[in-house]
Amino acid sequence: MSGRSKAMKSPYADFERPPGFVYRAARKSARLVSDYVLFCEDVPLPKLAARFGTPLYVYSTSTIRARLAAFEKAFRGFPHTVCYSVKANSNLSVLRLLAHEGCGFDVVSGGELERVLAADRHAAKKTVFSGVGKTRSEITSALKAGILIFNVESESELSVLAECAGKLRKTACVALRVNPDVAADTHPYIATGLHKHKFGVPIDRARDLYAKAAAAKHLRVAGVSVHIGSQITDASPFREAMARVTELVKDLRFDGHNINYVDTGGGLGIAYDEAENDFDGYVADYARAVTQPLRGLNVHLLLEPGRSIAGPAGVLLTSVLYKKQNDGKRFLIVDAAMNDLIRPALYGAHHEIVPVVQSGPQKTSGDLAKKETADVVGPICESGDFFARDRELPEVKEGDQLAILDTGAYGMALASNYNSRPRPAEVLVAKNSVKVIRHRETVQQLLQNERV
Ligand SMILES: *Cc1c(COP(=O)(O)O)cnc(C)c1O
Repeated sequence: MSGRSKAMKSPYADFERPPGFVYRAARKSARLVSDYVLFCEDVPLPKLAARFGTPLYVYSTSTIRARLAAFEKAFRGFPHTVCYSVKANSNLSVLRLLAHEGCGFDVVSGGELERVLAADRHAAKKTVFSGVGKTRSEITSALKAGILIFNVESESELSVLAECAGKLRKTACVALRVNPDVAADTHPYIATGLHKHKFGVPIDRARDLYAKAAAAKHLRVAGVSVHIGSQITDASPFREAMARVTELVKDLRFDGHNINYVDTGGGLGIAYDEAENDFDGYVADYARAVTQPLRGLNVHLLLEPGRSIAGPAGVLLTSVLYKKQNDGKRFLIVDAAMNDLIRPALYGAHHEIVPVVQSGPQKTSGDLAKKETADVVGPICESGDFFARDRELPEVKEGDQLAILDTGAYGMALASNYNSRPRPAEVLVAKNSVKVIRHRETVQQLLQNERV
């Protein structure tokens, strides 16, 4: 793995996710052509696979930092707090890394709030609580922790929040999550901004509810929130949602409410099928769409990116167990499965899959490795257990490792134990340092709450 060459651009640049995941040339010997090895920062992925086994989630610290920095830069002209959406990747070390960078958090459950507090006990004051079904006990914990604001999603929740706050003799800061009835081009399971969705209150009913909230003794109206969906790569729905929110803020102020915060939600999509070449520019476009309608309103923005921070910062490493052919159809059976990464099965999501070692161009012909078309599937007893179908990949052998790219968000966070499969380990890389941030689960742990 030595003999790396910085000057030489790898022929696999399309599959890189800089700055975290980049191929480096590794000369096998003076005579032979180079192989290209996928690194996470300064650590070769084959080394991590050998040391920790597969399937394995690997995250890059510098990528997470760079992506958060892109948001900070794009919004620097506007008062704002980035409240990373914990549900995308809730590992404690990831949360702590973000907290150290000054990030706040968006939580959607009592469990996520506990994670945030465990990662940084001072984080509550930068934490917002979203979600359509908060329980009394979750609300009470959040009140005790002293979070920044509750994004309330119904009239009934307003009363429950007022009741819980009253019992604790506290005042809860409230934003209503309004449903702006804006269509966003994304998978139907993760679109949330239309009136047919379960989220938020209809924007034209909001003024009434704000009046009720303002009348409640233990509530303080402080903001308006929206979240129109996830994996949205076009800026215009964000702009449209913000234009509607701006009108509402003006109406609410006319009604005498103090609106200091506008929470724009998350939802900025990532490029799953190619390398992003200008993430800073992309976030800047998003920032323009979000902030232009709000100019002059004098509000503090709360941003809730999840996927766009964590997604390209992680890969799922997996090993090829078996190659097989059924009537001409080829399969690569790998040791990761839909329980480890459910996005392809759940959303039909596309993830690039690359061998962690690829041969360089042949000396004589300049050709890259031979390709073959195969389904990449896991061992689970369901036909939905696939990572790719009819995918053209460089030829690999049994025992070789593959990296499933852009799996830092909604990967491990959605992992399950289906088929009694322990969940993978997670490691966080920073330059040449490697930290296990979650041990591989054991079957004993899976059985421990069960009784016979
Ligand atoms: C899921 C969610 C987010 C994060 O969405 P991303 O698409 O990951 O950026 C933000 N806010 C709320 C309320 C959410 O439900």
